Amino acid sequence: MSLRYIGFAKTVLIALVLAMTPLFAINIILNQYAERRAVTEMEAMGQSTIRRAEEAISSTVTLLQRLDRDEVQTCSAEDRVIFEKLVVENGMIDAIGLADAAGRRMCVVPDRELAGQTILPPLRSDGPLVGIGMLDRNYLGARAAVISWDLKDQTRLFAEVTPSVIALDPGPEYLRSYRRSELRLGNNLLWYSVGGYNSEGSEPGTALTVQVSSELYPLVATVTAPVSAALIVVQDLKVVAAAACAGVAILFVAIGIWLSWRPESEASDEFAAAIRNGEFVPYYQPVMDIESQRLRGCEVLMRWRRPNGVIVSPGQFMAYAENNGHIFGMTRHIMRVASEEVGDLYGDNPDMKISINLFAGHFLDREVIADIRSIFEKSRISFQQIVVEVTERHPLQDMELARKIIAELQALGVRVALDDVGTGHGGMAYLQKLGVDIIKIDKMFIDSISSDDNSTTIVDSMVELADNLGMGIIAEGVEQEEQIERLLELGVTAAQGYYFAAPMPADEFIAFSERIEDEARERERLAAEAAAAEKAAAEARADDEAA
Ligand code: C2E
Ligand code: CA
Ligand code: CA
Repeated sequence: MSLRYIGFAKTVLIALVLAMTPLFAINIILNQYAERRAVTEMEAMGQSTIRRAEEAISSTVTLLQRLDRDEVQTCSAEDRVIFEKLVVENGMIDAIGLADAAGRRMCVVPDRELAGQTILPPLRSDGPLVGIGMLDRNYLGARAAVISWDLKDQTRLFAEVTPSVIALDPGPEYLRSYRRSELRLGNNLLWYSVGGYNSEGSEPGTALTVQVSSELYPLVATVTAPVSAALIVVQDLKVVAAAACAGVAILFVAIGIWLSWRPESEASDEFAAAIRNGEFVPYYQPVMDIESQRLRGCEVLMRWRRPNGVIVSPGQFMAYAENNGHIFGMTRHIMRVASEEVGDLYGDNPDMKISINLFAGHFLDREVIADIRSIFEKSRISFQQIVVEVTERHPLQDMELARKIIAELQALGVRVALDDVGTGHGGMAYLQKLGVDIIKIDKMFIDSISSDDNSTTIVDSMVELADNLGMGIIAEGVEQEEQIERLLELGVTAAQGYYFAAPMPADEFIAFSERIEDEARERERLAAEAAAAEKAAAEARADDEAA
């Protein structure tokens, strides 16, 4: 059950990762797009500010040059009338006048306050003919500019350009609310500044700044905006992307559940149903005494008998049953059925042993002891007839507890066999630590016993060790007659394998045991007959001799 939830959680996690990855990618792409777009728009804003400033300067200079050419170069009443006319005609020009070399106003039309105020930098003989200065008067963040044109006599014609020429800030609404735009002249003279955003002191990477310079005049426009404002454009798209990814995630989860959960749960339901229906049944494989050719007992091997009659081997379901814990109930069931099926046979043959396979999980809990107790207490099979097998193939997690459980089973009279000896890493250490009674030599070593000297040596040393520790030995997977001869030579007397019989259902096993017994009795009868005949012959010889 818990394994299923782990599987489910894994599916959900994978689906989320699959769906979130594109979401991250989409976010990055959208952010980059938003920043690129904002920069482009800010460049356009800067360029349009520069263009307007250039136009204002150029057309004012043209106007002043024309006055110079037309010899309108003084503060005379006549000239002032012309100035006046031009101011009225030109919306861009607020005032026209004359300034001296020091930059002081000599006259200005219309005649506003403060003639004599310094409005231009002092004249420099090596400077350009055009001068630009700034007045304090401003409108919407723009100051009035003063454009001058040098005359021959150290005086200058000047015109005041209305601030509104420049105080026009284009650009998209989403940037206009957050940006700061500036236009600076020459050595840092501020002409126009709008917007409160200040990128100074903000984290690096959180502000976008664009600078555009004029090619005609020393003008630089700077536009700064926070990245967050740029991202406003893609906010809606991000919501859409997130929603789409959430949809995809749900779809993936659904597919994942459909793919993994459903068959998994079907398989699990099917398995649980098979357990309820008693489809797991014990088969019995005889264990033979190869000296006397009589039956020593059997090993119980589980089979799944499907309703359609197909018999499934444990290799196909045992790992699954062990992983999800079904094995505990299945083992209990197998023991109960076996105790019923062969109880009478064992009751009548108290020397016969019955082997039950346990797995590593059985040695993590004393419950197996209680199970064996309660099942065989009521059976004709005594505890002394029971052998439990524990495989060396898979390590035992808690050796100390396993040792205690084994000792308690032994105290009941149950014997413990180490299965598949020679295949695991446990080896000799297991034998000694666990205190087992019997070792079962794996088929692998028996297979090559007649041909391969090495494996004969291994079996040899196993036999020696078993003898030294007072343990019994069973050879597994015997298929050929020569193997039996070799085993007898090596001192092994118990064997199991297809040579004698494959695992079989209870009725066949009972019939098999009767046949073996009949054969044994027949052998005994023949032997007794032969002995009697021998005896009669000997007596006859003795009589003859006596006669
Ligand atoms: P195992 O305990 O080593 O059982 C011996 C396996 O070798 C059995 O396979 C048996 O049918 C097979 N075998 C016996 N003689 C020969 C032979 O001469 N030649 C060949 N090629 N094979 C032979 P099976 O019945 O398929 O069982 C496989 C494994 O499944 C068992 O190996 C055992 O580890 C496990 N198993 C079977 N029943 C149970 C059970 O009730 N509980 C647990 N925990 N494991 C079981
Ligand atoms: Ca076994
Ligand atoms: Ca085995």
